[in-house]
Amino acid sequence: MKIVLLGPPGAGKGTQAQRLQESFGLKHLSTGDMLRAEVASSSPIGTQAKAIMERGELVPDQILIDMIAEPTKQPDAARGILLDGFPRTVAQAEALDRMLAGRGQKLDRVIQLVVDNDAMVERIAGRYACAKCAAGYHDTNRKPKTAGVCDSCGGSQFVRRPDDKPETARTRLEAYDRQTAPLLPYYKSRGVLSEVDGMAAIDEVTRRIGTLLKAA
Ligand code: ADP
Ligand code: ADP
Ligand code: ZN
Repeated sequence: MKIVLLGPPGAGKGTQAQRLQESFGLKHLSTGDMLRAEVASSSPIGTQAKAIMERGELVPDQILIDMIAEPTKQPDAARGILLDGFPRTVAQAEALDRMLAGRGQKLDRVIQLVVDNDAMVERIAGRYACAKCAAGYHDTNRKPKTAGVCDSCGGSQFVRRPDDKPETARTRLEAYDRQTAPLLPYYKSRGVLSEVDGMAAIDEVTRRIGTLLKAA
């Protein structure tokens, strides 16, 4: 099963992917996480991507296309993949279609998290994650059960992303509208697009995506 989660920054892609990967045995691939790992290790790609990400702009297509090729063909991707944050441009979507076709595969479903863009700055500004296991939280919407303690691993250190500042969040939402939203008609015309209300409660969104995946 090959699934894409699509939606603007803050829509809930990462939150949902963390929950769905286990129940469906899918490999979660977040290109944002992969790029942040490149930045942390100061690799050549990371060095090139760092300033672009800090501005809230998109990293060049070819870097992402090359980055996704390898992990999608490893044995742990055999049961399926859940793409989070890729593709983000029509050129990336076309490259993904070509890559899968070359392997005799195709995308099964693209799930659009439909959200109110105005609410996204608040979601992004309140976002943080466990430093140890990367479980995602929010200052008001999704707090750990015990304050200051990660539900998943018991860790007590948390991190915020440098690009989650409100000004940068706005640039990222503009990039979504200009460069990523054209993927909606692209996938709709191919008959693979399903909409899910991303403004619903986190558990409810998981349940609705789960129903779509069972049918895929
Ligand atoms: P994305 O990966 O699409 O950028 P995230 O999954 O990181 O988005 O979610 C952004 C923030 O909003 C996180 O802090 C998360 O806890 C919170 N969040 C995610 N889904 C919902 C929801 N359905 N309702 C309220 N808050 C949510
Ligand atoms: P969000 O969770 O807010 O949607 P991500 O973690 O997916 O953000 O991405 C963070 C940043 O990494 C983006 O703002 C962009 O600079 C870069 N990035 C991630 N995926 C891609 C992609 N497919 N194409 C270009 N840039 C990307
Ligand atoms: Zn944790």
